[in-house]
Amino acid sequence: MKEIILAKYGEIALKGLNKRNFESILMKNIKSSLREYGDFEFSNAQSTVYIVPKSEEIDLAEVSDSVGKIFGIASYCRACVCEKDFNDISEKSVEYLRNILESAGSFRVTAKRADKSFCMKSPEICTEMGGVILEKFPHLSVNLKNPEVTVTVEIRDTNAYVHAENIKGAGGLPVGSGGKALLLLSGGIDSPVAGCMMAKRGVRITAVHYVSPPYTSDRARLKVEELCQKMTDYCGYIDFYCVPFTKIQEAIKDNCPERFFTVIMRRIMMIIAQKIAERSLSKALITGESMGQVASQTLEAIVCTDSVCKIPVLRPCIAMDKSEIVELARKYGTFDISIQPYEDCCTVFTPKHPTVKPSLSDVEDAQGQFDFSTLVQEAVENTECKTFRPCE
Ligand code: ATP
Ligand code: MG
Repeated sequence: MKEIILAKYGEIALKGLNKRNFESILMKNIKSSLREYGDFEFSNAQSTVYIVPKSEEIDLAEVSDSVGKIFGIASYCRACVCEKDFNDISEKSVEYLRNILESAGSFRVTAKRADKSFCMKSPEICTEMGGVILEKFPHLSVNLKNPEVTVTVEIRDTNAYVHAENIKGAGGLPVGSGGKALLLLSGGIDSPVAGCMMAKRGVRITAVHYVSPPYTSDRARLKVEELCQKMTDYCGYIDFYCVPFTKIQEAIKDNCPERFFTVIMRRIMMIIAQKIAERSLSKALITGESMGQVASQTLEAIVCTDSVCKIPVLRPCIAMDKSEIVELARKYGTFDISIQPYEDCCTVFTPKHPTVKPSLSDVEDAQGQFDFSTLVQEAVENTECKTFRPCE
């Protein structure tokens, strides 16, 4: 029996004049996400993308999982392909839906007739099909208002399709429809989630990571690269920049008052990030900060980091509890990598008593005791870039 996947888009369907643009980005993303599984034919009509495998070898269960990770798709299902002939439709449906119908208590049938020349009208299809199903599965009852299973019959140009499941998609908007932003990606739980949340709203993610060898190990960097690779399941390709940060951290340690180490370090991270953003054509920065989580994430500390930023800093986790962030980290598949215990440069030279409520002028004075511009320049010049792609 031939099977395809129908993917319905949600919010894009509401876009007016821009709809075409969103649609074409979504199609491109679907194609690149599914390339690894084989050849498909794609078409779209009425806010639905038809994903038709060209060979029987293709594992639709895997494809279906992958479709569930594409932002811009509100719901999707696998469907059985039938000839445009009621006998064929009813025979195949009974076979195709056997497991679902056997374990259900109630059902209803809906019909969509895009091909108005089909010999039966929608209500007639529903009645006849309902009759066939009741005959084969006499334990079922019809429930029009709140059925356990809705059997949908679609009559389209070349074929008819039958399906009964409806799986919730990743939602949001297609990645790339909302410009590009640079994610400050640590090895922690929060920043990968922040990146995925912004990707959900259509933002293409570029990532920057700061390393301080030998205080941070190669293994710690590899962990972040692994996170970045994992994020491509949802975010698509990610350009990843790795910044050598050791000399800057040592200079902070040697020249600035200890209680301001963290906030000065974060300001310099932001200064470098903006230079990388310019280079990568990113319009904003993204961090995984959550209000009050640690000393550097109080409102006062955020005032100090933001004051060096000329582009917007997006903080999608800012109002989330840790447990809510963890839930999303599990959903996006990053949690298990994030909890591997490797050091981050943020934990190098951590002051024993960091200032929880730093004043901006004190921080500026403290940072002013050393001219970081040459070191910043050098760090940016020695930044390495590589690209992570889905399915590598
Ligand atoms: P996360 O779980 O994302 O590591 P966190 O709660 O540990 O966050 P911090 O260590 O204070 O918080 O870092 C705050 C934010 O700064 C992170 O969410 C991330 O965006 C950025 N950040 C921290 N360390 C690095 C790093 N080594 N490279 C790039 N960005 C970093
Ligand atoms: Mg961290």
